Amino acid sequence: MKMEIIKTVKEMQEKAEKLRQTGKIISFVPTMGYFHEGHLSLMREGRKLGDCLVVSIYVNPTQFGPNEDLDRYPRDFERDHKMAESVGVDVIFYPSNGEMYPAGYQTYVNVEKVTQNLCGLSRPGHFRGVATVCCKLFNIVKPHYAVFGRKDFQQLVVIKQMVRDLNIDLQVIPMPTMREADGLAMSSRNVYLSEKERESALSLSRSLRMAERMYEAGERNVERIVQEVTNFITGHPFTKIDYVKICDVDSMMDIVGEIDRPAVLALAVFVGKTRLIDNHVLGEAITF
Ligand code: AMP
Repeated sequence: MKMEIIKTVKEMQEKAEKLRQTGKIISFVPTMGYFHEGHLSLMREGRKLGDCLVVSIYVNPTQFGPNEDLDRYPRDFERDHKMAESVGVDVIFYPSNGEMYPAGYQTYVNVEKVTQNLCGLSRPGHFRGVATVCCKLFNIVKPHYAVFGRKDFQQLVVIKQMVRDLNIDLQVIPMPTMREADGLAMSSRNVYLSEKERESALSLSRSLRMAERMYEAGERNVERIVQEVTNFITGHPFTKIDYVKICDVDSMMDIVGEIDRPAVLALAVFVGKTRLIDNHVLGEAITF
């Protein structure tokens, strides 16, 4: 069947309603486009889970701060279209800003606690925008399954919390981070990196590997791991640390002292002007 492109909320809701009435399972992958293999891995999972796979492409202005990269965020609909088709996407939902936030718009979703650390601190309002747009997209696409990447670990926690708190009737499916052969986490923002910056960007995934080796060897002291990771990354040119933290995987709050529960090492680092994030749950097998 030919892939459909739907641009209006009304059409998307009618399509979703029809599918549900005929007993079809809807799987959904929300994205900001400019696809890479990470996005495609989510789509392949969505393809397996549902009868109809919907992918949204929407660069959501409410999740960008005033000095962030909203205007220069990479976009290439034709390329995305071909890539989506190649993995069997049924519908691309591709709304305009006017369609998503018409004049008079005034409702926002605020997930309170799990947004207080990490990117929630560095990017005020970011998760309010993310939660709001995902809540809206869930009401528009009406999916049974929504697939998210663990690359954005805190985002995944925020969405799971919102779905639970607001009784949204869908299942959130987490997926592993896809990486380039050398370990760099795939990201649409990697296109911003110069060749030399890209070399330095490798320090993120390499530092995660190093931290995991420390953890495996029995190290449980937060400060020592954070210090080693920080030193390693700042030893590379063009890098500026936004945060290096070890947090509880559920609450996203800092673990202080010794690591005594499931913990994620989360990084946000500027490489030149590009802000990159990566993470690793300590104790999990390193596959990169
Ligand atoms: P984005 O278009 O960057 O907003 O991402 C859309 C979805 O793709 C989110 O659920 C991300 O977590 C996920 N994603 C982004 N990068 C990766 C990656 N390298 N591996 C797996 N999923 C990813």
